[in-house]
Amino acid sequence: MTLGTIDLATGVNIAYLVAFVCFILALKGLSSPKSARRGNIIGAVGMFIAVGMTFVDGPVHNVALIVIAIAIGVVVGIPAARLVKMTAMPQMVAAFNGVGGGAAALADIADFVHHGGTIATWLQVCTIFAVIVGCVSFSGSVIAFAKLQEVMTGRPITYPGQQVVNALVGLGIVGLAAAVLGISSVPVLSVMGGLAVLFGVAFALPIGGADMPVVISLLNSFTGLAVAATGFVFDSIPLIVGGTLVGASGTLLTRMMSQAMGRSLTNILFGAFGSVVAGEGGGAAGEQRPVKSAGPEDIGTLLAYSSKVVIVPGYGLAVAQAQHTVKELADALEKKGVEVAYAIHPVAGRMPGHMNVLLAEADVPYEQLKEMEEANSELPSTDVVLVVGANDVVNPAARDSPGSPIYGMPIIDVDRAASVIFMKRSMRPGFAGIDNELFYDPKTTMLFGDAKDSLAKLVTAVKAA
Ligand code: NDP
Repeated sequence: MTLGTIDLATGVNIAYLVAFVCFILALKGLSSPKSARRGNIIGAVGMFIAVGMTFVDGPVHNVALIVIAIAIGVVVGIPAARLVKMTAMPQMVAAFNGVGGGAAALADIADFVHHGGTIATWLQVCTIFAVIVGCVSFSGSVIAFAKLQEVMTGRPITYPGQQVVNALVGLGIVGLAAAVLGISSVPVLSVMGGLAVLFGVAFALPIGGADMPVVISLLNSFTGLAVAATGFVFDSIPLIVGGTLVGASGTLLTRMMSQAMGRSLTNILFGAFGSVVAGEGGGAAGEQRPVKSAGPEDIGTLLAYSSKVVIVPGYGLAVAQAQHTVKELADALEKKGVEVAYAIHPVAGRMPGHMNVLLAEADVPYEQLKEMEEANSELPSTDVVLVVGANDVVNPAARDSPGSPIYGMPIIDVDRAASVIFMKRSMRPGFAGIDNELFYDPKTTMLFGDAKDSLAKLVTAVKAA
């Protein structure tokens, strides 16, 4: 290379470096709702550069097939991403993640077939690893998708001897992996991939729908690792860097989600074996006991004459798409001189950041969003807490009932405020399937109905008060 000019290989490497910096900046941006949109765009630009450069970097065969595959991906991906409802985002991520893991496994199998199994031993190790992890990620994600989309039951599926069956499948995979290393056989590698697909199904079946978003995050990190191993097989630095970033960030997210649910990852993955799934602690779900309820006029008046109101949004806010209406209510209350804040639980809704995304869409000022610890310190001095479609994340059983399935999950201590309003459609439980003692507390009033309708009525009532 002479000064002032660079050869093609150096140019490609510089472009890859720019792409990697984009990936890292994207992750940084995605860590806050304020910068998430920008982070997403930076990540997309990085991916565009990385994919574009693979066409320049070395000989490319079957260009027509690659272009057709990209076109299919664009035609399916853009409308799917645009049309998906916020509430269906976890299963969308599961679907994207599954095809990523499957693609990594298939690429490695194709490479192995191409070389007739005669590749260096350490590349065989990478291939075996990528095929096993990619296949587990693929089939595990398919089950996660089916459970969340309610194509199949979301309940844990268990049967006697399940752990023995899973262990045997796992041992079979290890045995076949050793055989692939010994005899470099393509058919043995394929059977091993098939067993790994079976293992992914067996691994995901006993996990309940409620825990699936955590599992998706874990499988996402698996896909990252499979892609990174594929990068070694194909001598591709972008795959190694991209895969490692996905693997690392997925692992951190899995850890954070488990912590926010107050559960260990082992408990989430293996908790269904031999346990009663729901209905313990905090009373049986759907129990018939008297509760106090009121209409929007009375509650609107109560809110309008309060000095401090904290809104706790949950999954029901997302289902009702009530984010704009809740902002209208907050605006109406502020006009009356009421101090309003939102208390955000890290696992409210069905994915991390779910509430932040919804409230940002409605232009709720970030200063009004209080994280759980901060909100909890303010609740004892709060007049009214308005719980909008949230349930598990405010259930005192998580704090007070050691027998409860959600015991240990940090909660928003709404019961420490002077009064609590629950906005939901019925007495049905939340995601964990357990009753909430707080519904029956003398300081609680239920406002039954769809969250969006009820909020709209509250806006009218507050304005009239
Ligand atoms: P919950 O699922 O506990 O409760 C949601 C409540 O919303 C229900 O009680 C339901 O009652 C009500 N609801 C549903 N639709 C409407 C509607 N249209 N209008 C009004 N109310 C409605 O939600 P939370 O947000 O409190 O808790 C999240 C749960 O999800 C936790 O158990 C958490 O562990 C779990 N989870 C969250 C993850 C995350 O990353 N966010 C990941 C994995 C699990 P009704 O049917 O009577 O209306």
